[in-house]
Amino acid sequence: MCTEPGTLKCAGCKDVLYCSAECQQADWPTHKLLCKTFNNFQQRPAANMRRIIYFPVNGTKPEFMWRPLKPDDRSREFEDGRFDRVDMDEHMNKCVFKKSFTIQINAMNDKPLDYTMVLYYDDDFMDKFPHPNEAITAAANGKLAFLWGGPLYAVCGNGYDTMDIRSMKDMGMATFADLVAFLQEYRNESVEHNLRKGPKIQAVKMTCQGERRLRGGVVCQQVMVPATHPIFDRSTPISAISERIGMPLLTHKYPKDKRFTETGDMCNQPVTFMHTDIDPQSTGFGWAPVQWDLQVGNVLLARRDRKALEPEVAEAFGAYCQLHLEAYEQWQGETESEHGKGKGDMRFKDFVLAEVTPKKWALYLEQWKYVRGHGDDEEDAGGVDGLINGVSRMAVTKRDADRILDRLLSLDNPFWAEFGKGQPV
Ligand SMILES: [Zn+2]
Ligand SMILES: [Zn+2]
Repeated sequence: MCTEPGTLKCAGCKDVLYCSAECQQADWPTHKLLCKTFNNFQQRPAANMRRIIYFPVNGTKPEFMWRPLKPDDRSREFEDGRFDRVDMDEHMNKCVFKKSFTIQINAMNDKPLDYTMVLYYDDDFMDKFPHPNEAITAAANGKLAFLWGGPLYAVCGNGYDTMDIRSMKDMGMATFADLVAFLQEYRNESVEHNLRKGPKIQAVKMTCQGERRLRGGVVCQQVMVPATHPIFDRSTPISAISERIGMPLLTHKYPKDKRFTETGDMCNQPVTFMHTDIDPQSTGFGWAPVQWDLQVGNVLLARRDRKALEPEVAEAFGAYCQLHLEAYEQWQGETESEHGKGKGDMRFKDFVLAEVTPKKWALYLEQWKYVRGHGDDEEDAGGVDGLINGVSRMAVTKRDADRILDRLLSLDNPFWAEFGKGQPV
């Protein structure tokens, strides 16, 4: 759907090629409305029929339809003979103001189309159909500036413009995407729309256990994401910890791979820790909501400010979240069994909130990059393994893990006394 050549075919309709999984996801909210039914429109009922797309007035999504061809009266004006048109009379003759648009460019990525699309509508729809056409709203995934009403029909063919289409073609899944790009662009001058028309954004795919089991590879991969990707929608969940440290990260789950069948395949611990609740007023403090705790799978991470996110930064951030919360969860459990339920609570919260700050994150990231640049001392870190599950793996250095272990395990540590008084350092 972007301007790059596509190599990945949609398995549902087999009628569209994407350059990447991220491009497919960007198109999916629209594509899914017709992908399945496309298979019911493979058999041409007669040689003179063409497949068109229409948006029914009382429907909830667009539909394919076969329409016959008829000779175009105007084509007698052409010197080189008569041409056929898709016969829209039955539908359009009811309209008081029959109108049409000619579309020759993809409005979202400015790619010129190698065909011409004609969109028929009734310009009188404001009076006749005062309610917005839900099928159009659904196709545009709500991203419209203009509330279209009445029926809408899209046909396409080869030719230079509406008046000069020499042969009619079928509408399909790729032409559907071009059509929706037009609807989204029409009279749309919103900031959000202009951002969606921008270049691709550098993001990170954080892989789950199954992905690494099947394909090997690294925890964080750099991916280029179209600006139209739903990860940039307002409803996308943001990691609360990332917001607190001043680098809000949007998180979007990849569709589940059917080959993720083994226990733990969908596990993506860094992402779970990123979504730990750190609202001191919340009863869920220290826990991740269930949708980020179980069945997480591969996750796309992007900065909300759309700046480039480096894989190294994403990986360090995952480790940072895990380092500061995994250990404390365990520690909280221990202090509760020792001192009674809720007793360890306040110090636990204070500790986390004092550790998770923009300044401490910047420091951590610096250390992380330094250690990465000088080779990871695995033997060093290995010494901590078994004491606190996971910390050794994710801590930047053994000193880091030790520092945290000290603070956690020694309840007489002056650090805790200080926090007990509610005076964070
Ligand atoms: Zn693409
Ligand atoms: Zn499809």
